[in-house]
Amino acid sequence: MSINWLLLGGHQAQKREVITEEKLQSQEVVEECYCLNGHSILTDKAEFQGKPGLTLKLKVSTEEGLLVISPFIGDHDRTFIDFNKHVGEIVEICCPTCSEPFPVYNVCPCGAHLVALFTSPKAQFSQCIGICQRLGCLHSELLSERDLRLYSRQSYF
Ligand SMILES: [Zn+2]
Ligand SMILES: [Zn+2]
Repeated sequence: MSINWLLLGGHQAQKREVITEEKLQSQEVVEECYCLNGHSILTDKAEFQGKPGLTLKLKVSTEEGLLVISPFIGDHDRTFIDFNKHVGEIVEICCPTCSEPFPVYNVCPCGAHLVALFTSPKAQFSQCIGICQRLGCLHSELLSERDLRLYSRQSYF
């Protein structure tokens, strides 16, 4: 196991975990994901093994398009729709329904910003998935409350 567990200072019930491809073996799926205004971003614009993907509106100065990412934690599979991907470009990541940008909560190791996709309709930073604004950067994080996390890590193998 090479999962990096980092405790966020001052929040003892909170975990911040860098998502690695190893996580994919646990077959954890994002079942809920919301923007700041409570819109669900799980849609059938693209499906991954029959599960709805996380749909994001991408904006740069010259164009707008959609990115759908796999809901399987650790899976880097993603589909761009009507968007010319320029690797390395920094994009604004917005809700596909209300176009509200997802809020920045941290800096990515690549130097761009991480934005929070909320896994609870309460839109708390303690429960979110962090993804990088830089196209081609696959760094992502899972922030969760410890009790929830311990529960969901139960394994039957
Ligand atoms: Zn929205
Ligand atoms: Zn990055």
